[in-house]
Amino acid sequence: MAELTAMTSTTRPPAACLIGWPAAHSRSPLIHHYWLRTLGIEGGYVIEAVPPDEFGDFVFRLSLRGFVGANVTIPHKERALALSKPDARARAVGAANTLWFADGELRSTNTDVEGFINNLDACAPGWDKAEDALVLGAGGAARAVLFGLIERGIKRIHLANRTAARARALADQFGASVLPAQWDAVDALLPRAGLLVNTTSLGMHGQPALELDAARLPQNAVVNDLVYVPLQTPLLAAAGARGLQTADGLGMLLHQAVRGFELWFGKRPQVTSELRALVEADLKKA
Ligand code: NAP
Repeated sequence: MAELTAMTSTTRPPAACLIGWPAAHSRSPLIHHYWLRTLGIEGGYVIEAVPPDEFGDFVFRLSLRGFVGANVTIPHKERALALSKPDARARAVGAANTLWFADGELRSTNTDVEGFINNLDACAPGWDKAEDALVLGAGGAARAVLFGLIERGIKRIHLANRTAARARALADQFGASVLPAQWDAVDALLPRAGLLVNTTSLGMHGQPALELDAARLPQNAVVNDLVYVPLQTPLLAAAGARGLQTADGLGMLLHQAVRGFELWFGKRPQVTSELRALVEADLKKA
């Protein structure tokens, strides 16, 4: 396992990478280069397109390749978990998206949890006063959302998914505060949802719309859509038109990048309006 040990190079500045297949369209380089530049840190962040059959070897030699850590994206997140020492968040989510070295070991975490929570804290302080949350979707993103909501002490988390069995499976895994619901029960649950989170791909560019009547939400509800293409989803537009507090998917994307940068380069960066504008402009080009 010698190759897994981080090497300290005296000649090359630290560099991290994003490992994916495909990985070309990621905004992560834009985000990390912005922080490296504005914090005056000499370092690098590159994209590494690695096919599934080469992922294990790539990670085994991560340090020898000169990397202090990595982000991991589709389809490697579950393998990344298995090949590293995961923290509680990565284990609960069942996937790792950030790798780094500590005490000679390859560690992993899932930063979607703090991306979700820190974005809500930034956009809608006090959101966690909600006693009932309604989470739509039971895929990978929903797992991170559930972990975060439970950690913050939300009493009842209604979890509705098109495929009901997946919602039931997550409720079994995450415990009594997660209450599985049928997809056609969403309408009836809206009036008690102090927090509504869309973790489905509905509303995403090229996907069907999320059919939901935001007028049925309580007056003090907070609405969070994880979809960020488009930035302003129909759900967020409807919630905004009602004067509800909202948090968008781009905010989560930016906040989830903070921890990796801190682990690799030693300084905790800020999610600034300048960074947001930079990534927004890039998303509009796509
Ligand atoms: P995933 O694991 O593939 O899960 C997709 C979810 O969407 C499942 O619950 C699926 O339901 C549901 N769904 C898909 N099509 C549907 C339809 N026509 N009607 C009803 N439900 C439908 O994907 P994921 O990784 O969780 O990602 C989900 C979304 O979150 C994506 O838009 C992704 O871009 C976004 N996301 C954003 C961030 C961020 O930082 N902002 C981070 C992670 C993910 P079934 O179980 O019935 O198939």
